[in-house]
Amino acid sequence: MSFIHKSDKLTCMRLRTFIALVTCRMIRRILHLFGRGGTNLPGTVALRIDKNLLKTLAEGVTAIAVTGTNGKTTTSHMIEQILIDAGYDVFTNRAGANLISGITATYVENATLGGRPIKSAAVIECDEAAFGAVSEAISPKVIVATNVFRDQLDRYGEVTHTLGKIRAGIANSPKATLCINADDSLITTLADNAEAEVVYYGVNVPIYKKRVHEISDAPYCVRCHGIYRYDYVTFGHLGGFYCPNCGYKRHEPDVFVTETVAMGSENTDVRMVIAGREYPVRINLPGGYNIYNACAAAAAGTAFGVEAETIVHALGHFTGGFGRMEKFTVDGTEMRMILIKNPTACNQVLNFLSNIEEPVAFSIVLNDRDADSTDISWIWDVDFEQIAKMGDHLKALYLSGTRAEEMAMRLKYADVPVGKMKIIKDDVKLIEACAESSYPVYLMPTYTAMIDLRRMLTKRYGLKAFWH
Ligand SMILES: [Zn+2]
Repeated sequence: MSFIHKSDKLTCMRLRTFIALVTCRMIRRILHLFGRGGTNLPGTVALRIDKNLLKTLAEGVTAIAVTGTNGKTTTSHMIEQILIDAGYDVFTNRAGANLISGITATYVENATLGGRPIKSAAVIECDEAAFGAVSEAISPKVIVATNVFRDQLDRYGEVTHTLGKIRAGIANSPKATLCINADDSLITTLADNAEAEVVYYGVNVPIYKKRVHEISDAPYCVRCHGIYRYDYVTFGHLGGFYCPNCGYKRHEPDVFVTETVAMGSENTDVRMVIAGREYPVRINLPGGYNIYNACAAAAAGTAFGVEAETIVHALGHFTGGFGRMEKFTVDGTEMRMILIKNPTACNQVLNFLSNIEEPVAFSIVLNDRDADSTDISWIWDVDFEQIAKMGDHLKALYLSGTRAEEMAMRLKYADVPVGKMKIIKDDVKLIEACAESSYPVYLMPTYTAMIDLRRMLTKRYGLKAFWH
């Protein structure tokens, strides 16, 4: 309307932002009051009220965005610790709230009612499909692209489609420094036409003594469709790839691991080159795939301007994320929760578990709800045969979830002795059975199974609510 002055328009905009902000907070508080965290509702409603809310709130916040199929959460936790240790006031999105709605709600929680940021830095884990819009709104200073693997096919489609989504996000923030996994022949193509600075990271040596059997998600050269050869493979399609046909090959990394010194059940020791100098680095999480996450975090730290010594220190004491090797005790039994979400991630978990040489018990909780992937055929692409090869180390295997029977069938085909398997559909009874074990228990739930288990553990055993 023409009779509205420019200054009135500005006030209208501010009012809109204010209403969106307050509504978002109110819905969030109410949901928490009823014990419901981690939903998309507050952010979705807030964006309905003010579609520019995230962009407005992101002004004045220097962000690092982390995207890619696997490793986002752990890498984000590592970067958060690096920034904290470097003296930044930093916030991050928790509880897998990695779509634009969850990220918006996170920025709302970290802003004044006037829409000004409370903290100066943010580490934002972002879903690949949402990355285009998020990247445009938050204009990150640094973008970390971890890897691209075949994920829930019914949701993402092929790996090239996922790659396209990440590419769109990078195009929306052309000035951002890119941290690129040099060992992933798919991810490296993101740097091909990059205008901004690129920091490559990678692992220069094989990670595992024995590896699970895996199908490569990227066997063919991106340039000429020839078949890649490898000097070494770390896992999946990652490693020292080269194309004998056209010469396309792994880019020399700037941040890299030169040696895996020790792979324990609590942490991993490596030697890592950061800013041209080699350091002994203790990564405060077990599992070979976390070596990549540590490299990614170190690359992001250097791109942000943090000193190498600070990065090394932070990697030694950060704490793991929600369901990422998260450790807790129930009635004296030590448990670790590890989210399983796609064949590659699951194979990496098995790479770690099958190398354990002490007696252990496992529990796999397979759901088939939307957020898990309704198509559970992916379990046939996972090398569960490794579990059978563990022999006497594996003492018991508890199965649960909406598709526990199919999981039992898959394990039976893998030659896991039927006598070791037990289906317990009730979460409470499942945890009680696990707690009776005199061995450490590794719980491997799919996403919604993890949310349910976590909620029950919080209520019954007083575990910290996951949205805190
Ligand atoms: Zn080629």
